[in-house]
Amino acid sequence: MGNVESLGRVCGIAAPALPSLDQLLPAEPLLLMGAGPVPVAAEVARAGGMVINHLGPTMDRLVEHIKQLASYAFQTADEHILGIGGPASAAMEMAMGNLLWPGRRALVLQNGWFSGRFAEMAAGVGAEVEVLAVPEGQAVCAERVAERLKGQRYDVVTMVQGETSSGVCTVDLPAIACLCRQHGALAVVDAVCTLSTMPLDKDAWGIDVVFTGSQKGLSSLPGVALIAFSDAAWEQVHQHPGPRPHWCLDALRAQHFWQHHQYHYTAPVSGLLALHEALRLVCEETLERRFARHRHSSLALQAGIEQMGLVLAAPRPIRLNSVVAIQVPAGVDNARVRADMSSRFHVEISGAFGLDIVRIGQMGEQCRAPHLFRVLHALGGALTPEGAAVDTSAGMAALESYLSHCGDDVI
Ligand SMILES: *Cc1c(COP(=O)(O)O)cnc(C)c1O
Repeated sequence: MGNVESLGRVCGIAAPALPSLDQLLPAEPLLLMGAGPVPVAAEVARAGGMVINHLGPTMDRLVEHIKQLASYAFQTADEHILGIGGPASAAMEMAMGNLLWPGRRALVLQNGWFSGRFAEMAAGVGAEVEVLAVPEGQAVCAERVAERLKGQRYDVVTMVQGETSSGVCTVDLPAIACLCRQHGALAVVDAVCTLSTMPLDKDAWGIDVVFTGSQKGLSSLPGVALIAFSDAAWEQVHQHPGPRPHWCLDALRAQHFWQHHQYHYTAPVSGLLALHEALRLVCEETLERRFARHRHSSLALQAGIEQMGLVLAAPRPIRLNSVVAIQVPAGVDNARVRADMSSRFHVEISGAFGLDIVRIGQMGEQCRAPHLFRVLHALGGALTPEGAAVDTSAGMAALESYLSHCGDDVI
């Protein structure tokens, strides 16, 4: 062995002397009340701190559990449930890359940032893409889809259940999925921010493909995603003429791991352990009670926001409860309000990708009474110095009153 000096001479670039994370992170963790990622339960955090072998009997059991738990969350008896090492967008890409290819036709229902992402991915794998666009802040309704499908043939129709970018809910989703079925098109649904926060009944609604991420409705660590294919969709996955455009996101290769416990790529074991716990907590709570908790929490927050004197961006009939979009009062600096909320109140919320709104998440662990009080108080506290006419006390009182009426044990 050479001495240290002679080893050191091999590296032309010196090691940077950077401080540890303690100095990078704020002294007090910020409360994540934005559009995701969201806070996680203690069980989830613990599970995410472990590493296990990615192959072998423990992993095999973990995979089987996750599939069973996910069947409940998606409300499906599908055999083809796969996990993905990657963000929710990777699941979207798996759906597009395995169901579309040159010569195939896709209709993208677009009313915002995330619903539009489907079109880029579909075009990327060579499909013919048509977009049915409605202005941001509106919902795609079943009538518009019915009109568009008349006399047309599409292989795939894509939609989001909750358009996180504008806080709008596709309330006609069951009717649209039904139309897709009648027209012989596969309905592909993004349930990233909505899964387990509001009803989604994959089999009963006739949805062919549904996917979600880990860090939003499910309240787990970012970095893994879940997708379920119906038998009809799976048959079409097999019809891909090749070459298959993705290797990691090839559903057939992924099935080796998720069905047959064979190596595809090293699964994100910590993320899957955390997801297991997050899904188990969904089952323990039951979907019915979880939906009620989300609904009450979000409506309480909305009541507080309105009583404070602010305007909610989405009209009530199409308002998404999972992510609440709030108009920024005229003359107020959106970014400065959020920065002030972070630095003075230790609460983070989200801006938007174009609209002058701020967004407060109501997903998973965000729907807890103490968090509601903190975020509302911080919002009022940051808006006041900006000169906005807000009545923080009235908002807090409305929140308190709503919560006391819906029963303390819910949230
Ligand atoms: C966040 C989000 C996505 C993208 O999720 P990533 O994990 O960032 O890839 C897609 N669709 C919706 C509706 C979302 O809210």
